[in-house]
Amino acid sequence: MRQLFLPTLFITLAAGLLYGQSAESTPASQSGIDLSAIDKTSDPCTDFYQYACGNWLKNNPIPKEESHWGRFSELHERNQKILRQIAEESQAHISRSPLDQKVGDFYGSCMAEDEIQKLGTKPLADELNRIKNIQTQKDLVDEIARLHERQVGALFNFGSSPDPDNAKMEMAGLDQGGLGLPEKDYYFRTDANSIELRKKYVAHIAKMLGLIGVPSAEAQKKAATIMKIETDLAKGSLDVVQRRDPKSLVHKYKTDQLAQVSPDFNLREYFTALEAPSFNVVNIAAPDFFKTLSKVVETYKLGPIKDYLTWRYISSSARALPKAFVDESFDFYGRTLTGTQELRPRWKRCVQMTDAELGEAIGKRYVEETFGKEGKARTLEMVNEIEREMGKDIESLTWMTPETKKQALVKLHAVTNKIGYPDKWRDYSTLNIVKGDYLGNMYRTNQFDTKRDRNKIGRPVDRAEWEMTPPTVNAYYDPTQNNINFPAGILQPPFYSNKADDAVNYGAIGAVIGHELTHGFDDEGRQFDADGNLRDWWQKKDEEAFTKLASCIDEEYSSFQPLSGVHIRGKLTLGENTADNGGLRLAYMALMDSLAKRTEGQQQKDGYSTAQRFFIGWGQIWCENERPESERLLIQTDPHSPAKYRVNGVVKNMQSFTEAWGCKPDQSMFAAPGKSCRVW
Ligand SMILES: [Zn+2]
Repeated sequence: MRQLFLPTLFITLAAGLLYGQSAESTPASQSGIDLSAIDKTSDPCTDFYQYACGNWLKNNPIPKEESHWGRFSELHERNQKILRQIAEESQAHISRSPLDQKVGDFYGSCMAEDEIQKLGTKPLADELNRIKNIQTQKDLVDEIARLHERQVGALFNFGSSPDPDNAKMEMAGLDQGGLGLPEKDYYFRTDANSIELRKKYVAHIAKMLGLIGVPSAEAQKKAATIMKIETDLAKGSLDVVQRRDPKSLVHKYKTDQLAQVSPDFNLREYFTALEAPSFNVVNIAAPDFFKTLSKVVETYKLGPIKDYLTWRYISSSARALPKAFVDESFDFYGRTLTGTQELRPRWKRCVQMTDAELGEAIGKRYVEETFGKEGKARTLEMVNEIEREMGKDIESLTWMTPETKKQALVKLHAVTNKIGYPDKWRDYSTLNIVKGDYLGNMYRTNQFDTKRDRNKIGRPVDRAEWEMTPPTVNAYYDPTQNNINFPAGILQPPFYSNKADDAVNYGAIGAVIGHELTHGFDDEGRQFDADGNLRDWWQKKDEEAFTKLASCIDEEYSSFQPLSGVHIRGKLTLGENTADNGGLRLAYMALMDSLAKRTEGQQQKDGYSTAQRFFIGWGQIWCENERPESERLLIQTDPHSPAKYRVNGVVKNMQSFTEAWGCKPDQSMFAAPGKSCRVW
């Protein structure tokens, strides 16, 4: 299952929203900034995002098969092509290794569209029969355990997660789940757009049931009941903002107390059915949800619950089924939810799935082919510099008492970093990948993952493990491990280039590093100590000062309105906005210190000063066009602000930006002394 305390990512790559189209090489410039992206007709002090990205935005419309298209997408696209080549070679190679066999045959079984078409719904039959044959509560518990082992999101989630009070050990955890819409609030919003979306969702469920042969009128009736079940589950769930408070997710129960929480769904029987390692204490992230779950199981009886399980199973299987299922699933989750017009080409979907399911197999080859030693060494050097700046920053804070400063420095010095790829690769030897059985392969890889996760319960946390695959264009901070992680996939242009000058590299990858580091000290991360335990190490006075400074950022971003009538959710995005603000400031300090040590110092290049190039470097990683449907979805669910505000929201808080561009007090990007927000 998802970890209890999610690692905080640099960007969100929502499932199924990966990119297409080819990347053009960056036009030559002396410093590495993209001169052709800049809109020189606009004023950097009025709208810096438009200045840094205006021409790029105009010249890079969103491809039909994408929900958004930006600089991240271009890099992702390059990575996809490399992965495709590896997957195709692994498929064809005569004397291939066992790892190549798995990668090649997984990818090949996904690409075999004609065979999948011929098989029709046959691969679903066994599981659908099992669901149909459920007669007793015990059968129900057993089937849910089976579905969970295959990672079908039914009713709730279970898995291992670090113990919040002893982050060195893994413990068992139960959490809410089972919804087909993006999150709780989708079931209850009363605006016209949301009501329409729910109608389309119910119609989608009915159509999916129709595809396995349920007659239309019956399918519609069943879909309406399934929607009622999900709405009840949503009622008992925490929303995305509530889930950002780590303390609200910790409720430890002895296993013999579970009947009090969930009298009508036997959780202990469920653990037995799962063959989980034995344990006496389990953390329940949302106890009210399990009370609701128990009531749902009691109220709806077996018939409707079986229909609900059928729906969840075919929905998670859709991508491995014939065209009609793929198209119907895309129609709702792609077209309706994100505004994407066309399905991505098959090879891209298959590369995406191979990376998702066998990421450290295909990723190992990816690293061998792409990742240079220089990139790793330079990144590590920058990480060290930026950590030093954060130390200086903490020491210089006027709002923090010496006692808390001491603790903050202990935490900072305990941060570890992982760069590029795992030291020890995942062992896939027990996983069986069968040629020509895509659905089976998908569920076998899921089972492999579930077992790996579940067997951790009661054992020490393996801090060498990665939460992201090596080709991923992203980065993360893990609060329970107090580490920052940068996969090989992001250590490339436009984030890092050995051809770009320092100003541009610090504005891009430097800011990413600063961002991840700051996550350890944002409103969520600050609640964990140096060892990753959820423990309060703050003096009360400092906590109050922090909250006040953070509320400035909350208010600033809440005032932004990316779509008419839709504001950024300041509390949902607070951690990310804090990290962006702190990250860019730290990167700037590191750049200036690093230049001061060298003889060449600051120089004019491409018509820009060092500081100006630094800010353009930051601005240009965010050049991105987005469909309004997708933007709405992300504003409601994503802890990151939209690209434009990740740029403008930060620079208008920085005095150094105002100085670099000579902004005037009446201009939007002007950082008014004493009025702009700053936490770190
Ligand atoms: Zn982040």
